[in-house]
Amino acid sequence: MPHLYLHVPFCVRRCSYCDFSIAVRKRIPAREYVDAVLRELEGVRATDAGAAPRGAPERGLDTLYLGGGTPSLLPIDALTGLLTSLRDAFGVTSLRDHDVEVTLEANPEDVTTEIATGWRSVGVNRVSLGAQSFDDRVLTWMHRSHDAARIGAAVHALRGAGIDNISLDLIFALPAELQRDWERDLALALSLGPDHLSLYGLTVEERTPLARWISRGAVVPPEDDRYADEYLLAHSRLAASGYRFYEVSNACRDERRSRHNSAYWSGRPYLGLGPAAHSYDGRARRWNVAAWPAYARAVAAGRSPVESREVLTPEQRELERVYLALRSDAGLPVTAFDRPRPPSPARWVEQGWVEVRGDRLVCTPQGWLRLDSLVRDLTDVGAVA
Ligand code: SF4
Repeated sequence: MPHLYLHVPFCVRRCSYCDFSIAVRKRIPAREYVDAVLRELEGVRATDAGAAPRGAPERGLDTLYLGGGTPSLLPIDALTGLLTSLRDAFGVTSLRDHDVEVTLEANPEDVTTEIATGWRSVGVNRVSLGAQSFDDRVLTWMHRSHDAARIGAAVHALRGAGIDNISLDLIFALPAELQRDWERDLALALSLGPDHLSLYGLTVEERTPLARWISRGAVVPPEDDRYADEYLLAHSRLAASGYRFYEVSNACRDERRSRHNSAYWSGRPYLGLGPAAHSYDGRARRWNVAAWPAYARAVAAGRSPVESREVLTPEQRELERVYLALRSDAGLPVTAFDRPRPPSPARWVEQGWVEVRGDRLVCTPQGWLRLDSLVRDLTDVGAVA
């Protein structure tokens, strides 16, 4: 069963830390967007029917993820048309049951009871809400367009509409001068009882307002210690409330993992449509042009919007396998260390970076803090078993 990702690139403004491929628009060209994505799908299918490469779209869907950008800006009629066409294209009888996980990323200010009811009626059964912080001062600094009160209102509206699988995104490790109270934000997020939380440390990306503020000395970049302290605090607060991290940045309760993102983390194939969307067939990756106008032009002219492809070498696939295994709670089999000059798994355990679960080694929070260096240790010294 395939996993389908749609990149919806539109935002009403750019957040201060964001370097995603977005198109800032006051009015969303919803009709053009839906037509373009469906046309791209037709093109992918025609190519695959001719060449029959690995990863050709199959019938049926396991997960559908609308990410962005801000998918919650799509008007309900456009979303209905899009999801109905995709349902038909993939031969899915109905998106309204929970057989297909249908996630929509939403900004809190876009969610009302009426809109959430519309989403539910077209098959959306999971919403990932860009909360980021419950401090209005911080939200203003981030250039977000919602205030803290809208987050709770959005969660209530979603539940009222029958969407109870809700994830909240929060950003931590903000510059010290903001005096953000991370503990308070965690407590307020937990008080809403979401099934899932995604926690991301702030990174300073080039060509963002934040990078410009830092380069002219208006903001001091966050220190590494703050990142580690806040990450570990999140682990302890969430564990005390019954949540479990199943991936370096993602925690859930009652096993309500993101099925879509779990597919990425376990190396399964997926198809991405829309500007900047990536696809992977288990062997090769390809990605579309990032800019919306270039994407729309290519598709309208009947050309492929694919910008580039790369076939992964066996070494790259191995590196990726190790990285994905260590970043999730799947962990690495102990046999991964059976080779010449391996790092010592006993030392990793002794340092508190991994713990043994059956025949696998799974990262602890301390291990996830040094994930890159663990992967380097394991892959630098030769092929992994
Ligand atoms: S809403 Fe999301 S995608 Fe859009 S600018 Fe903000 S962080 Fe980036």
